[in-house]
Amino acid sequence: MDFRLTDEQQLLRRTVREFADIEIRPHVRDWDETQHFPIELVPKLAELGLLGIQWPEEYGGAGMSALDYCICIEELARVDPSVALSVAAHNGLSSAHLAMFGSEEQKRAFLMPLARGEKIGAWGLTEATSGSDAAGLRTTATRSGECWVLNGSKHFTTHGRVGDLFVVMAVTDRSAGTKGISAFIVERGTPGMTPGKKEDKLGMRASDTSEVVFDNCSVPVDRLIGAEGQGFVNALQVLDAGRIGIAALSVGLAQGAYEAALAYARERTAFGQTIDRFQAIQWKLADNATRIEAARLMTYRAAVLKDRGERMTLESAMAKLYASEIAVQAADDCVQIHGGYGFVKDYPAEKFFRDVKLTTIGEGTSEIQRLVIARHLLS
Ligand SMILES: Cc1cc2nc3c(=O)[nH]c(=O)nc-3n(C[C@H](O)[C@H](O)[C@H](O)COP(=O)(O)OP(=O)(O)OC[C@H]3O[C@@H](n4cnc5c(N)ncnc54)[C@H](O)[C@@H]3O)c2cc1C
Repeated sequence: MDFRLTDEQQLLRRTVREFADIEIRPHVRDWDETQHFPIELVPKLAELGLLGIQWPEEYGGAGMSALDYCICIEELARVDPSVALSVAAHNGLSSAHLAMFGSEEQKRAFLMPLARGEKIGAWGLTEATSGSDAAGLRTTATRSGECWVLNGSKHFTTHGRVGDLFVVMAVTDRSAGTKGISAFIVERGTPGMTPGKKEDKLGMRASDTSEVVFDNCSVPVDRLIGAEGQGFVNALQVLDAGRIGIAALSVGLAQGAYEAALAYARERTAFGQTIDRFQAIQWKLADNATRIEAARLMTYRAAVLKDRGERMTLESAMAKLYASEIAVQAADDCVQIHGGYGFVKDYPAEKFFRDVKLTTIGEGTSEIQRLVIARHLLS
């Protein structure tokens, strides 16, 4: 057990941190206020390899490890959690589904442009009436000759409006339950597929979240990913790994909030001294620094298990649950330490406070993580 990052990983952290500070930080407030998805950032993210972090170089990826992936997502989230969310969804959902279960031809045709950042990925599991109960989805795919015809709609799809390549889960055999759901690749512009309502969100506002509608949307049979009926089982495996990304996002967000609170506490004076002299403030800072470190270690452990090819459903659920909940606390304490200034947009505190809530909801709520963990404990 070696807790040190390698020299390369330390360099990676410094590189992504510098990138986020220079290319993202100056725009954070504007992108948030205008709900602007920063499409102009995509080539720069691609240049650093951040849109194909874990995929082999032969598929256009950067060939990095799951632990490296955590470092990248953390450093983006420290500055702008919504950029980190988009990068995590692109890498950890749509691209991951193709990398894990796509055929060789599908990887070359669809994973490669995603990994190179030439196309933006989206992944549609959630529907209006099925989120946690994802197997209750209603979108159907019906075989018709050499095509599958999709009908239905997806809710809360990250990149639903800006995405180029969609991985969509749909029912192919209603009688087979979770074994009757399959995954399909749908390209933007396919007749019958239209982006629906863009959500006006509390936080993560620079990350596009939209509805996607399928109305007799016909895709060739070779767009089926993996075996027919395996789509839901595969989606759960994608989520196992994806949760490590959301845990890393939570750690990075908490780190950003903690650092903002620390900097403010050192400057702000009350009763003739800076507020970092008050024990009440010091304890908040100490508790947050400790919790963030614990969450980081849990997240890295899940990532290392993934890198070793071991099962990590339990560890990724634990890391996601803990990291997201301590991040909520860190963002809350950040606002509290800022006092009234934590309530206004001149400081980053209120944005962390709004953004953080997604981490206990997306890719499985805290309740669902507890359910997954309990199932393992009781099995
Ligand atoms: C910004 C954003 C981006 C997203 N991106 C994507 C995406 O790219 N692709 C995608 O497919 N989805 C995406 N989602 C959807 C997200 O995964 C779901 O919102 C989430 O899984 C919760 O589902 P729900 O919203 O339907 O809530 P529900 O499932 O309706 O849950 C409501 C409440 O009931 C609780 N609950 C439900 N079932 C149980 C249970 N069995 N035991 C205890 N409590 C329970 C939940 O924990 C929650 O507190 C995104 C959501 C957001 C907000």
